Amino acid sequence: MNRRAFLTRAAAAGTIGAGAVGTMAGPPTSAGRGKTSRKITEVQVYLVSVGGRHPVLARVLTDEGISGVGEAAIAYGIGATAAAGMVKDLAQEFLLGKDPFWIEALWSEMYDHTFWSKGGGPIIFAGISALEQALWDIKGKSLGIPVYEMLGGKMRDQVRVYANGWSFRCLKPADFAREAERVVKDGYTAIKFYPLASPEMDVAGHIRHVARRSVDRSAEERAVASVKAVRDAVGPRIDIMLDVSAELTTDAIIRLGQRMQEWDIAFLEEPVDPFDVEALKKVSEQVPIPIAVGERLYTRYGFRRVLEQHAADVLQPDIGNTGGILESKKIAAMAEAYTMRVAPHNCASPVSTAAALQLDACIANFLIQEVYPYRIPEHFRLVDHAPEREIRNGLMPIPDRPGLGVELVEEKVRPFLWARCRL
Ligand SMILES: [Mg+2]
Repeated sequence: MNRRAFLTRAAAAGTIGAGAVGTMAGPPTSAGRGKTSRKITEVQVYLVSVGGRHPVLARVLTDEGISGVGEAAIAYGIGATAAAGMVKDLAQEFLLGKDPFWIEALWSEMYDHTFWSKGGGPIIFAGISALEQALWDIKGKSLGIPVYEMLGGKMRDQVRVYANGWSFRCLKPADFAREAERVVKDGYTAIKFYPLASPEMDVAGHIRHVARRSVDRSAEERAVASVKAVRDAVGPRIDIMLDVSAELTTDAIIRLGQRMQEWDIAFLEEPVDPFDVEALKKVSEQVPIPIAVGERLYTRYGFRRVLEQHAADVLQPDIGNTGGILESKKIAAMAEAYTMRVAPHNCASPVSTAAALQLDACIANFLIQEVYPYRIPEHFRLVDHAPEREIRNGLMPIPDRPGLGVELVEEKVRPFLWARCRL
């Protein structure tokens, strides 16, 4: 028997990739797995509105009475309704009736058979991420272990975090300095802000990014003065990260980045469009500050060229929109092979933070975790154990509870139930 004949016969017999694309009908239902009766019976989608953000949460229920949670990390910007719809469509088409333990198989099914995933963006991968996280949560709870135990085990008991969101009402350099000082007093040893953005001054505290890819000289001078003011305020021992959210052209950010190096910046985030790898590489070569990118790159395929070109130094996959926990771990492994570190992006509800912690626990090239600790209290009350509430001295402990270690608080999320799919 030649190799091809062997593989064909073995697959048909179910010994290789039973349920794999091209061989059988997809990940098995409970009926296909002997004595196991475990199957997904319901998926609930919550389109939450809290503090001007709109977390999209998924809860996957099984016939064994165990449920899992996950988040499509589109809580900011535009697209939460689309992400909620994506979670609903994916759940109906790929999850109901399936065994929740077959996480890799279900991910592959979603990737291969949604059609729009190949070359797709945040909505589809946020939907996949939410469901993937929930499957890990179910599996961890079923086995009585945290998710990181299934991903190699933890390498640390707590993770260093950097605070974001504290500067959203700052306009003048003195505002940035005052608020940065407050954050450092709260125990944080690393802080990030947006020197080119300006506050919307709305109730929810949004910021407005640069329009039309340019700023005038006074805005540029204000940005430089703000970074200097923050450095002067916090002293030399605090890490400062700058996010410029791909706001300028390549030449302009290179010039500005070269000026910023004087203030000992830990990394410069998204200096240009994340998919313009050549421009990213050009900035990396000409700005002597580590370059970070990744919150708008999706799956290992989306990160591939950045790695191959060595176009950045720090990768920032968002566990809630790049494809989930295991996808982020694969991206981290690729980054390790290219001598880069990972600082997971995180800008959604505490469910996302909990999921990110499971990854942070078990990757060797972990750098630092992003958190938004200054959201309104209601934001953190969506779950029973918001990880942000446990931060002390800039360190966030990794919980040892089964699964992701968080449960939705029923009375807080119930008003936001948006869709319910049942078997
Ligand atoms: Mg960013």
